[in-house]
Amino acid sequence: MASITLDNIVKKYGDGFPAVNGVSLDIADGEFVILVGPSGCGKSTLLRMIVGLEDITSGDLQIGGKRVNEKAPRDRNLAMVFQNYALYPHLTVAENIAFPLRLDKGKLNEEQIQEKIHLAADTLELREHLDRKPANLSGGQRQRVAMGRAIVREADAFLFDEPLSNLDAKLRGQMRTEIARMQRRLGTTTVYVTHDQTEAMTLGDRVAVLRKGELQQVASPRALYEQPVNLFVAGFIGSPPMNFMPGEVEGGTIKLPFGTFDLPERTAKVIGDRSLVIVGLRPEHFEDARLVDETKKDRGYTFDADVDVTEWLGSELYAYVPFDTHESVAAKLEELDRELDGEGMRTQFVVALDSASRVRDGDST
Ligand code: ATP
Repeated sequence: MASITLDNIVKKYGDGFPAVNGVSLDIADGEFVILVGPSGCGKSTLLRMIVGLEDITSGDLQIGGKRVNEKAPRDRNLAMVFQNYALYPHLTVAENIAFPLRLDKGKLNEEQIQEKIHLAADTLELREHLDRKPANLSGGQRQRVAMGRAIVREADAFLFDEPLSNLDAKLRGQMRTEIARMQRRLGTTTVYVTHDQTEAMTLGDRVAVLRKGELQQVASPRALYEQPVNLFVAGFIGSPPMNFMPGEVEGGTIKLPFGTFDLPERTAKVIGDRSLVIVGLRPEHFEDARLVDETKKDRGYTFDADVDVTEWLGSELYAYVPFDTHESVAAKLEELDRELDGEGMRTQFVVALDSASRVRDGDST
C-alpha cells in the first residue's frame, strides 16, 4: 500500500487550455478519495496520469514517497478498473482474474495462483462463474471480474474510472456497497472517479471537486455539503441542487423572491455590510408550516406560495414552487405532506434563514 502525492500537476494536450491545471493533493496510505466534477473537468486525465497511461506535462507525482513521473505503468504497481471492464473476451473468468499474476512470470507457482483466484472469486461471489467467458456474464458480474483482476495483484493502490456507470440503478447500488466493503477490508489506497452524486457522497473518506482542470475543494462529504468554499461546489454537491437566489439587504431586512424578512442576527453577521447577496438554500431548508412548531413560525420566516409540481420519490417528497421574479425553488418536504401531492396547491412554508454560513469566495451566503 502507498500514499499518492500530486504536486502542482499540469496536463496540456497540444497548445490548448490545460486539461489539468496545477493540481496538488495528498492522498494518505489507505485513504479512499473520490474525484468528481462536470464532464471534461479533467478527472479521467488525472487518474490516467497517476496510473501512467498519460504523460505528465509538469509537476511531481509520488507514490509511496518516490517520484514516479517517468515510470512505466507496469512498474507503478497500481490496479486500474475501467468503466468498460476491459476484460479479455477469449479468456474465462478465472483466466481473466489470473492474467496479471501470469504476467509476473515465475513470481507465484500454479498452486498459489489458483489460491488467489479462488479467494478473489469468493470475495466477489464469482465462484460459480469461473469457467464462463465474459460474453456470458451480466454487466455486474463482468465488473466484479474486473475488480477481481485488480485485487489479486495486491497493488499499492486501486484506481477506478467510473466503474459503475454502465450498470442499472439497482446493481449500481449493490456494487457500490461491495466496493466500499472491499476497500475497507483490504485497506488499499483508492482513487475513484465518478460523476454520480451518491457514489461521491457515500464512498469516499474525502471528495475532491474539480472544475476546468482545477481543484475547487477537497473535504469530507459532510464538509463539502455543509461548508462549500464557493458557489460552484455549493451548486454541484447535492441533489436536487441548492436553490440560488438574489437577496437585497436593507435596514435589517432581506428581500427574497418569496418575501421580505427580518434578518436573523446570525445571518446578518454573515452578510456583513453587503447590500446585494446571493442566497443559497437547500431543499431541506424549507418546511411545510403545518408541521413546524410554533416557536419557529414566530421567528417570522414563513411565506405562502403555490406548489407547481411535486415529485414523490418513495421516501422523499419535493415540491417545486415558482415565483414571478425567479425560477422555481425546490423544497424537500416530509413524506407526511403527501396530501400536497397535486398541482396548484397553496401552502405555507417555513424557511431556515437562520442557518446561514458564508462561502469563502465572499459574495454569497
Ligand atoms: P468525463 O466525465 O466526460 O469523462 P473528465 O472530467 O474525465 O470528463 P477528461 O476526459 O479528463 O475529463 O478531459 C479533460 C479535458 O481534456 C477535456 O476538455 C477533453 O476534451 C480533453 N482531452 C482528454 N483527452 C484528450 C486527448 N487525448 N487529446 C486532447 N484533448 C483531450
